[in-house]
Parts: sequence; C-alpha cells; structure tokens
Amino acid sequence: MNASSIYSGPVFAMARRQFETVADHLDIPTDERSRIFIPKRALAVSCPITRDDGSITVFQGYRVQHHLTLGPTKGGTRFASNVDVGEVAALAIWMSWKCALAGLPYGGAKGGIAVDPRSLSRRELEALSRRYMQEMIPFVGPHTDVMAPDMGTNEQVMAWFMDTYSMYQGQTVAEVVTGKPVESGGTVGRREATGRGVAYLVKRAAETVKLELSGATAIVQGFGNVGSVAALTLQSAGVKIIGVSDHSAAYFDRGGLNIEALEQHVRRTGALEGYSTEGLFDPEDLLVQSCDILIPAAVERVITEKNAGKIQCRILAEGANGPTTPEADAILKDRPEIFVIPDILCNAGGVIVSYFEWVQGLQQLFWDEAEVNDRLNRTLEKSFQAVSRRVEMRKLTTRDAALSIGVDTVLRAKRTRGLFP
Ligand code: GLU
Repeated sequence: MNASSIYSGPVFAMARRQFETVADHLDIPTDERSRIFIPKRALAVSCPITRDDGSITVFQGYRVQHHLTLGPTKGGTRFASNVDVGEVAALAIWMSWKCALAGLPYGGAKGGIAVDPRSLSRRELEALSRRYMQEMIPFVGPHTDVMAPDMGTNEQVMAWFMDTYSMYQGQTVAEVVTGKPVESGGTVGRREATGRGVAYLVKRAAETVKLELSGATAIVQGFGNVGSVAALTLQSAGVKIIGVSDHSAAYFDRGGLNIEALEQHVRRTGALEGYSTEGLFDPEDLLVQSCDILIPAAVERVITEKNAGKIQCRILAEGANGPTTPEADAILKDRPEIFVIPDILCNAGGVIVSYFEWVQGLQQLFWDEAEVNDRLNRTLEKSFQAVSRRVEMRKLTTRDAALSIGVDTVLRAKRTRGLFP
C-alpha cells in the first residue's frame, strides 16, 4: 500500500500493521485498502508566540482528519514534546475505528503541538492555544472537525480554543470543541468519562473472567485525567490500587495506596513527584508487578516484546491509545490467561461523552449527570457485547475483533456511498 511518505515513524507503522492484519481478516482487496487507511487531510502550521521574556518562539502544530465518510471528524489535541505528523495520523486513524466501534457518526481526527506544556507559563500556554486554534479556523468547524482534549491539554485549553474560534465567527460556537468546562457549554460528566468508562469495562471483563472485584488489585500507569479517575472509580468498587506512576515518579505498596491523597497532591503540584519518600518505585518495573488489573493510561508503546511475556495480570485495560505494540500483541495472543480490553474499546468513554456534549450543544438541551452516565454505560455495553460476540464467532483476539468492527463499519459506509466523482 502506498501511504504517502508524509506519514512515518513507529506509531504510524503500528497503526498500519494493525490495519493490515484486520484487512487480511476481512479480505479487503489490496486496491481498496489505501482508500480506507490513508488520512484524507492533514494540516501543518507554525505557531509563533511571544515569550514572557519578550523573545519569540515558533512551535510546530498539526491536525490530521482521517475520513469524512460518516460525518465530521472528531478527536483530541495533544501537547507533548515528541508530537509529529506520523503520530498524529496514527492517533487520528485509531479515533476512526474507535468512533465506528461505538456507533458514533464521526470519522477520526487528531491534532497536536510539539511542546512540553509544563515548560510554558500560563500566559504562554494561552497564547499558544489561541494561536493554534486561529491557524486551524479554515480547517475545523462544528460540522467539519470537532476538537477535544488529549494528553497535555485540558478543559481550560478547550475554553480558549472555543473562545478564539467564536471571536472570529462573531458568535459563540460552542460545538466546535468538546471537553469544555461546564460553565462554557461543556457537559457534566465529560472530564470523568474516559476513566469511568475504563472502570465500567474492567467490571465487565472481571465478570467474564470470574474475578471478584472486591479485594482485587490494580496498577495504574499514568495518573492524569484517565488514570486518576479510573483508579478512584475502581477503588470505590472495592479494588485495591497497589501501584501508580506518571512521568515524574512511581509509587508501589502491596497494602494499597491512598488514591485520594495522591490525587489531591497531583491537583496541587501537577505531578506525583514529592508525594512521599516511602513506596517510591522504579516506573519500568511497575508494569511487571503481579496484580489483577493492569491499566496503562499514559503513552503509546509501553507494552513491548521486552515486557509482554513478563506482565502478570488477569485484565489488561488500555486506558491510553496504542500502549501495546504489535510485537507484544503476538506474545499476548499466546497468553490467554490475560483478558485484553483494547484501547479503542477501553478508552472510548471520552469520545462517547464528547459526542453527547456536541449533541447537547447543537440542540441547546442539556442532560443531567445520571443521564450522561447511563447513556455512556449503555453505549459501552453494546460495544463490549459486539466485541465479545466477534471474538467468539471468528476466533479473534479482542483487539482484532474490536478493530475489525471499526474497519468494517467504515468500509461498508464507503462502499455504499461510492466513489466521487
Ligand atoms: N482524546 C480522546 C481520545 O483519544 C478524546 C477524543 C474526543 O473526545 O473527541 O479518545
């Protein structure tokens, strides 16, 4: 397949390899594969801002829209030092399969800026967020491409995006962005949605493998919005969280960690570092400690051929996008004792509630939190059951089953619409 050379790198290669496996399984003819896999549009922008010291720095930004067959594109914006167009494209492609699996009327998109947001002051962060959105104005819109948070961005950044877009339109266009603060047109339950979704699916997987949640143990890698909410929600279901980590530190205690205190510390200081001198642990080693539930909720490619044979859990719940490499997948295939909840299912709670936010904004009719959570669980339940059925019927891994539903949905939509012109 001739994926244009603008996309490269290990994350893009991973998305491509996953797609090829599923395309083989679905018997998609070779000449049709590029039409489904290669992103429709990509935009690269340079974003200059004035620094607090008066100097000027230019940051590189991107946005990739994977397909526009089912509706607008949808996906987060990532602020991280290693962001490049290949990674953003892979994340956009995964968003497509994720939205299709959940039955949302979207194609996938993703954007990002190569910047460590922690290296910016609040004023610089606002300037960069606004400049990025200003550059994106011809490319996005509530019926074209709807942004959301991802790693390194949050509700405040979404509010700046929405305000910048709206100021240029001369009216408030809240639906151009989801994951906004509730007071700026966001929905209740969006911030917690991804972590809550992870916890819901862990409960369903636990039922499948007959694991009693009360007293079960969990390790969570990544203590941002996804990891911390998943940990708190699982803890309230009786799970003992024995390990957590982020970019700054890792803590491990077989007796159980105080998740509320850790969460408060992170809220106060921005990172786990400095929480305590006790229980400090090697972050790499954390992933291979024995536990019932292992939740990678940080970055891509952390479960690799090096550690896939060593992880010791019953449920692997992928809160992050792309945490498991195809090489690791091949190892996990021979470890049927581990139930994998693949990323495009496991972390779909975020985009599902983003969809609810978009729908509420378009209708100007707002739901209460019970309705949001109830609809979230019902949507996840449907996806979980569809994946389980496909695993059973086609003898696939949970990942290949989930991906094949996503790819198949996009394929069928493209086939019925036909080729233009
Ligand atoms: N960035 C999130 C994801 O990777 C959420 C996307 C959205 O809400 O549109 O799923």
